[in-house]
Formats: sequence, C-alpha cells, structure tokens
Amino acid sequence: MTISDRKVVAIDYTLKNTAGDVVDTSKGRTPLSYLHGANNIIPGLEQALTGKSKGDTVQISVPPEQGYGVRDEKLIANVPRSSFAGVDKIEPGMTFRADSNQGSRLVRIVKVDATTITIDANHPLAGETLNFDVEVMEIRDATEEEVAHGHPHGPGGHQH
Ligand code: ZN
Repeated sequence: MTISDRKVVAIDYTLKNTAGDVVDTSKGRTPLSYLHGANNIIPGLEQALTGKSKGDTVQISVPPEQGYGVRDEKLIANVPRSSFAGVDKIEPGMTFRADSNQGSRLVRIVKVDATTITIDANHPLAGETLNFDVEVMEIRDATEEEVAHGHPHGPGGHQH
C-alpha cells in the first residue's frame, strides 16, 4: 500500500528550523496520524509523502512559503500596557490566544516597557525553512467516517 488520498498515515517525524535546532519531534510519543489529502499537515510535506510506503523515510526542506508563511511585519504591533490590566505578569516570550477577524491566533510578547507592550502575531515558525525527517510507520484505508470528518480517529489521531 502506498500513500494517496483517503489513506490514514502514521508518521514519526523530527522538525528542525533553518538553524538546525529541533523544534518538534514525535520521538517518545505516539506517531502522528493524519488523513492524506485533507490538509491535515502542511502541503509541502504532504506532497513529499505521496506514493511512499511503510518504512520509507523522507527528508525534505519546506521553504517558508509552503510552510508557515513568511514573516509579516504588519502582524507586529505596539499596544498600550493598560490593555493588559489585570494580568499579573507580562514577560517577553509569553504567548496568549487573541481573537481577531481571522479567528483565534497565538500571539507572542516580544517587548515590554513602562507604557507599551510589543506583540507579534506571526506563527513562531513563520519565515523558517522547515527541515523534516519523517519515517512512514503505518498506512491504512480511511473509514467513511474519517473521510467525512476530514481527520483520522484512534491512537495518534482525533479522539471523540
Ligand atoms: Zn472525527
């Protein structure tokens, strides 16, 4: 069996950024399960996995444009400190969820001074080349229900 649309695929992966630092890995956890062809994973990686078999390994570099996008300076903003009234501790590096007209996104605090807080709503991996090291652990046909839901069920997948 090879990887194509409507297959549920379990992968072990390690993700390194442009600098070669490990930013995410499934090692020591249940392999990640995803539904192929359903936009569960980033397009560049999905493309590279098409046609692979169990046990195959894939090493790919995904440019920012096919990964989490390039950094957008417009997503960096200065907000008055007073808008964080009631928050005890604010430090650079902290993240929080903010609602915007594009839905909820993760926002990072980059700078804090007496009156102003600088926030950055870029994805932490925006602008980074994503270096994936992937091993295909399992491939199976998706069930009708999984296809309808657009995600896999069971271990490493969606639980409900
Ligand atoms: Zn479901």
